[in-house]
Amino acid sequence: KVFTADEIRQSVQEENVQFLRLMFTDINGMIKNVEVPVSQLEKVLSNKVTMDGSSIDGFVRIEESDMLLYPDLSTYLIFPWGNDHGRVARFICSVHLSDGTPFAGDPRNNLIRQVDIMKQSGYTSFNIGPEPEFFLFKLDENGQPTTKLNDKGSYFDFAPLDLGENCRRDIVLELEKMGFEVEASHHEVAPGQHEIDFKYADALEAADNIQTFKLVVKTIARKHGLYATFMPKPLHGINGSGMHINMSLFNQQGNVFYDEDGEEKLSDTAMHFLAGLLTHARALTAINNPIVNSYKRLVPGFEAPVYIAWSGHNRSPLIRVPSARGLSTRLELRSVDPAANPYLAIAAILAAGLDGVREGLQPEEAVDRNIYRMRPSERKENHIQDLPSTLHNALKALEDDDVVIASMGDHLFQSFMDSKSMEWMAYRQQVGDWERDQYLELY
Ligand code: ADP
Ligand code: GLU
Ligand code: MG
Ligand code: MG
Repeated sequence: KVFTADEIRQSVQEENVQFLRLMFTDINGMIKNVEVPVSQLEKVLSNKVTMDGSSIDGFVRIEESDMLLYPDLSTYLIFPWGNDHGRVARFICSVHLSDGTPFAGDPRNNLIRQVDIMKQSGYTSFNIGPEPEFFLFKLDENGQPTTKLNDKGSYFDFAPLDLGENCRRDIVLELEKMGFEVEASHHEVAPGQHEIDFKYADALEAADNIQTFKLVVKTIARKHGLYATFMPKPLHGINGSGMHINMSLFNQQGNVFYDEDGEEKLSDTAMHFLAGLLTHARALTAINNPIVNSYKRLVPGFEAPVYIAWSGHNRSPLIRVPSARGLSTRLELRSVDPAANPYLAIAAILAAGLDGVREGLQPEEAVDRNIYRMRPSERKENHIQDLPSTLHNALKALEDDDVVIASMGDHLFQSFMDSKSMEWMAYRQQVGDWERDQYLELY
């Protein structure tokens, strides 16, 4: 819904809103916010709230640090959880330079730019339906997160009190109050793991929704004495958490991935888009799986993809074409994890797909066999490449992919590479328990 400034003034008064949160997202996908008392509403509405960009990761150096927050009025929302002093409303903002131009280092501005490029090709929307998974862990007596799962009922639990299920229901109710259309919510394969799916939306709104979703899940989990984490692989030996991305491209006529007369009722555009995703898959991984831990999830045996292939039938490959047709015709990219910055991820996925369409790329044959059972030589014969196995390898792939780099723009690409190279460097210097267990006494 698009609100006018007057509607917002009125709502703030009627609903006793006392604080306004101006939210934006840094390069690592972290939600940042500046909170101002409601007395500052006019300043907010006239794009005059300033923010020190130098304190934000990947933004700017100190010399050019004064930035402005431009609220997107369509993202106005009052948080359903109130307190005695009044309520809190939020806006999601775009970051602008002091002269008013959109700041190129803001991932949200960058997604807006990518969507504009898409519109120039005649498409009206890039619909994104995310399937975020997360774990609920217990908090300790000091309110600190532990890695103790709450729903592995032990032998003595006669009536297993499933804190997790109740917490998840509560999350769903809060999301609905905030206007989310929750389509499904269920316990996932691993103990303590959950998934909540909400209805697809156009690229920018979908990315905003993912950020809001994470905030709600974490907030409500705390109220239940639990800690929600979107870390991709919190525990070794059980499934990690993905965030499959369902996507489709629409124009004035509807879903361009659907073609009544196409093979399997898929259009040529859908096949080109799919080929674009496969072609750029290795570089996309750096953005879709941006932390060291992401690569602990992308291993065989835990329902996460490891190889670059697609299928209409089985669920193991990188890209699946779900069987729904018509308006729901879509591609599902299964590598993405919830540590990804949704603005960067959606922009890069869109650019990769559109490159496939522009270049008329054709995908390799679908692979309907279990890739994990193939010998390496068989995979080679079938042209099935691996996804990068580490953050380091993914960053190298990104550096070699001009299409994916262009989807970020120079500023974001540079800050991303700087920040991620540092992360990798810090990690590779660590010596962990696994190594000591394996080697200390052996050598
Ligand atoms: P799965 O088949 O992996 O279990 P789900 O049914 O859990 O998938 O999730 C489907 C997701 O796809 C939902 O978020 C839904 O809104 C979304 N979706 C449905 N149709 C489209 C479409 N045309 N474009 C993009 N996303 C879509
Ligand atoms: N948790 C799995 C993953 O890491 C996905 C399970 C599923 O198919 O929903 O991607
Ligand atoms: Mg799932
Ligand atoms: Mg899925």
